[in-house]
Amino acid sequence: MSTKPLTCHEVVELVTDYLEGALAPDVRARVEGHLAGCDGCTRYLEQMRETIRLTGKLTEEQVPEEQRAALLDAFRSWSAG
Ligand SMILES: [Zn+2]
Repeated sequence: MSTKPLTCHEVVELVTDYLEGALAPDVRARVEGHLAGCDGCTRYLEQMRETIRLTGKLTEEQVPEEQRAALLDAFRSWSAG
């Protein structure tokens, strides 16, 4: 069984499902394991939570591709540093 850590990109892709409780328990555990050690993804998750709190719902429209790309760039910088 693979225990390879998730990348930031994978976590960002999974955050919506994570917040909706739609992930399988083992995937959810891996996301939480990544979040425990990654400030960038924790911040992203908090932003998504805040969006849901404000709008009551999270849709793909609220996470524009540009914003997602910008965040992933930021994650890359943090990882590199
Ligand atoms: Zn991360």
